[in-house]
Amino acid sequence: MSDITATEYQRKAAETAIFPKEKALEYLTLGLAGEAGEIANKAKKLIRDGADREDYHAKLNAIGHELGDVLWYCAMLAKEVDMNLGRIMDDNLDKLADRKARNRLQGDGDNR
Ligand SMILES: [Mg+2]
Repeated sequence: MSDITATEYQRKAAETAIFPKEKALEYLTLGLAGEAGEIANKAKKLIRDGADREDYHAKLNAIGHELGDVLWYCAMLAKEVDMNLGRIMDDNLDKLADRKARNRLQGDGDNR
């Protein structure tokens, strides 16, 4: 399943979306932050323990698995706000390409 589209992923991910729907925005936002926190903690431990340990690559792989959890929450949050995940990905790439063309990749603010 290496070539799944964003739309397919979003549809399949929804099959495992079991949570209180009346609190969907809160639940999904907290879940996304929690999974991002799991990545941050694993990255912190990699920095602490160094790259020369024999379990280094296994720990990198574990971060990859957490990225999947982040992706699930992104897909479900996108669905919650009635947006297609692929459209969000396209829009983001367009935004970044525009910033690059205008030499505005660095700096602050959502509307650079
Ligand atoms: Mg996780």
